[in-house]
Amino acid sequence: MIKINHEKCVLCIGCASVCPFGAIELQGTRMKVNPEKCKNCGMCIRVCPADAISYAEEEKTKKEKAEAKE
Ligand code: SF4
Ligand code: SF4
Repeated sequence: MIKINHEKCVLCIGCASVCPFGAIELQGTRMKVNPEKCKNCGMCIRVCPADAISYAEEEKTKKEKAEAKE
């Protein structure tokens, strides 16, 4: 799944609009991701104007992260 950095998010709702699986919605004053619906397609990451969305840490193993830094 993906995660949203709420400090960066400007609540433009672009991610919710673009998500083909309806996995993101505005709840109160925050965008909320539904992990059961998110398919990790990455569409929301590409459209976010605030660079507020990224893949959640748990998606990667420590080994993969170490390799990514090299
Ligand atoms: S990664 Fe894809 S499925 Fe998941 S919330 Fe973003 S747009 Fe929706
Ligand atoms: S696209 Fe980015 S800035 Fe816009 S609501 Fe989604 S997370 Fe927030």
